[in-house]
This record gives sequence, C-alpha cells and structure tokens, in this order.
Amino acid sequence: MPAKDLDQIVNLCKRRGFVFPSAEIYGGFRSSYDYGPLGSLMLRNVKEAWVRTMVQQRDDTVLIDAAILGPPQIFEASGHLENFSDPLVDCTVCKRRFREDHIETRDCPQGMKGCAFTESRAFNLMFKTTAGPVEGSGADVYLRPETAQGMFLNFSNVLQTSRKRPPFGIAQVGKSFRNEITPGNFIFRTREFEQMEMEFFVPPADGPKWYEYWCKARLEWYIELGIPAEMLRIRAHDADELSHYSAGTSDVEFLFPWGWGELEGIAQRTDFDLTQHSNASGQKLDFFDQATNERYIPYVVEPAAGANRTMAAFLLAAYDEDIVNDEPRTVLRLHPRLAPYKVAVLPLSKKDTLTPLAREIYGTLAQRYMCDYDETQAIGRRYRRQDEIGTPLCVTVDFDSLEDNAVTIRHRDSTEQVRVPISSLLSEVTSILGF
Ligand code: ATP
Repeated sequence: MPAKDLDQIVNLCKRRGFVFPSAEIYGGFRSSYDYGPLGSLMLRNVKEAWVRTMVQQRDDTVLIDAAILGPPQIFEASGHLENFSDPLVDCTVCKRRFREDHIETRDCPQGMKGCAFTESRAFNLMFKTTAGPVEGSGADVYLRPETAQGMFLNFSNVLQTSRKRPPFGIAQVGKSFRNEITPGNFIFRTREFEQMEMEFFVPPADGPKWYEYWCKARLEWYIELGIPAEMLRIRAHDADELSHYSAGTSDVEFLFPWGWGELEGIAQRTDFDLTQHSNASGQKLDFFDQATNERYIPYVVEPAAGANRTMAAFLLAAYDEDIVNDEPRTVLRLHPRLAPYKVAVLPLSKKDTLTPLAREIYGTLAQRYMCDYDETQAIGRRYRRQDEIGTPLCVTVDFDSLEDNAVTIRHRDSTEQVRVPISSLLSEVTSILGF
C-alpha cells in the first residue's frame, strides 16, 4: 500500500532525518530542503543506481561533471535566454503569482473571492548572478537550468579523448537551478534540484530507433528499482507541447497522490543543440565516420531525469503499513540499493559483554555496506525504527552468540528471522541483498 498522501512521507522524512526544510532556525526558506543523515544517503543511492545502469553497465557511455556557472553565450545559443520562460499571471487582488498553465479556470487557486489576473507574460527561469571582484562591474553569469549544455559543450573533448563514436552517450549528474514560479509538493518542484541526464549521440537516421529504445529502458529502470508498474506510465507529448526542434518527446510519469507527474523526459532533440553551439562558437561539432567517409552532426536522444523527484516517488511507492504481532507498523519497502542503510547491527542488550562482538561484526559489514549500529531502547522498538527507515536487514547479537558464534538475521519485509554462523554472515548478507 503506497502512501495515501504526501503528508505521510513529509512527516516520516522530518521525523527520521531524511529531509528537513532548509534554514528552519530562521523560519525556513520557501521550497528549499536539506537532506539529512538518511536522506543524503538515499539521494546518493538514487544517483548511484542511475550511474550504475547508465554508465557502469554500458560500454557506450561516459560520465562528466561540468561547471554550474556559465557565460551568457551558452544560453544564447541554447535558446534558454530567449525561450526558457513560463507564462506568468499576477493576481491583482491577492498579489500572488501563478503559472498560467497551472490554473484551470480564471478562479484563484487560493480560493479567494474576486481575484483578477493580469495578462500573462514570460518570466525567465534562469538565475543570474555576477562574477568578479568589484561590485557592479562583474560579468553576467547564469546558474545552469539543466545539466545538458555541459554535454554539448564537451562533445568534441569527449570524442577526442574517449575513443567513443556514435552511437554513444555522455552522462552527467548534478545540480540545476530554476527560478520556478510555483515550486511545491515537497521535493517534487524546487528551485535547486539535481538532474541525471544523458545525451545520446546517434547517426541521424537512427534517431527514432534509439528514442524507442530509451523510452523502454528508462521505464524499466524505475520498475527494477521497485516502483509497481501500475504506478508508472509513458506519456507521449502532443504536437502542441513539443519544442520546435523536437522530433518527439515522452515523459515517464508516476502516480503521485495528486495525480500523474513527470519523473523524466525522453526527447529526440535532432541536431539542434550541436548545430546551435557550432554556429555560435565557430567550432566544428560533428563526427567524421572513417568507415563511410561521411561527416555529420549526430542526432541526440536525451533521457533527462530528476534525482529528488525520483526519490520522492521511490519513498511514496515504498511506504507501507501492516500489522506485526498485533501491532501496527510503518515500513519502507525500499529496494536494497536505495535503502540508506543495508544492515543494522543490534546487540540485544547494552551489556558490555555483547558490545565487543557486535562492534566487530559492524566493522566487518561496514567495510562493504552502509550500516547502522544501535544499542539504545528495547529490541522491538529498534526493529520498528529500522523498518520505518527501510533497512532491509537487522543482525541481532544476543547472549547465545557468545556461545554458538551465530547471530540472527531479521528480514524487514517478512520479519522472518534466521540464525546464521558469524563466519558466513557476510556471504549470507550479500546473497540476500543481491550485491
Ligand atoms: P516540469 O514540467 O515538471 O517543470 P520539465 O519538463 O521542465 O519539468 P525537464 O526540463 O524535462 O523538466 O527536466 C528533466 C527532469 O528534471 C524532470 O523530469 C524532473 O524530474 C527534473 N526537474 C525539472 N525541474 C525540476 C524542479 N524544479 N524541481 C525538481 N526536479 C525538477
């Protein structure tokens, strides 16, 4: 049973240290969030799972990490300075600002009577700042609104240094910034967020084939990591939603408590980006195919996902409540790869006699996995706590362990307990987790 509403996840995140409102001691900074001890681990796991699938397990892709700050030329060529804007309306009565495409009627979304909207106008979503030591005389720079431009700018660098040839991909994971008019729904839409993007360069004729391929592959990624297929769908954009250069775009959507929402967009961007940057910079951004003696500008298929939004979806889908030993419990049925901790080591009592052995076991497991160690409270409460933060396995060290050199592994999902010799604990854990 996935979370019924967003509040269940927001509360759990706050209570257990996944996500905190940013700058809380100063009253909070609207729609900004800090990822706490567990959330930072989980967000990292989401990004690592993406890199694992998109880079580690393929020999046709590479990873880069490009600059966040960029000169205006990049965004002039990319079209962001001119086109990266939302239609915005102001309410002349309540003074609030809305995205025109987010209001369904001319009634105020705040439910206020008598609201009157202005004509819509374009509002550029890029954050601008200045670089340089003297106030007022610095050069204009922008915070990137997507990671994608870094891949286009480094197309030639990667081609020359990595021995890749189309079809090949350049991937990147990192922060992007958009001055969203209506951020909200927790970490779904924020002004600062992380993207996981791939620009996949292909011979022009192969664009449609690779577009199909990536739509399917990306949907499967979410299912493999535990989101039920019925909570996911692929939605192809209508012709009037497409950007002028796009030969087709589809979104992977997740059934959020408020309805279907985008997790990822997969776009056929043709040769638009490389052509634009080539024209603007005067540099050739093309590929010479020695086999056919042909020179061409590759077409691009771009799967672009958001790490934070995806993390919210994984949390919502994993949330469950059930009854164990006549008591209700909350359990996050997270895929082990996404769970902040893989194993929690729990000595049955805080007695000194158990601590050295429990510490030793923790030390061994922690060489390989992110583990928790907890010797506070009664064991039942500690199990509940680990269930609620999604830890797949608990290892309990008890007084018998000192005699029989064995410990108990408790499974989060079934609460089943099995006794295993300490000597085979690591291999046992590895085989249960699957990595
Ligand atoms: P939306 O229509 O929801 O604003 P978008 O279509 O503008 O999203 P893209 O430009 O395709 O988004 O960006 C790719 C991915 O980056 C999105 O699918 C989403 O997961 C993530 N993303 C974009 N904007 C935000 C944001 N403000 N906060 C969190 N994630 C975002």
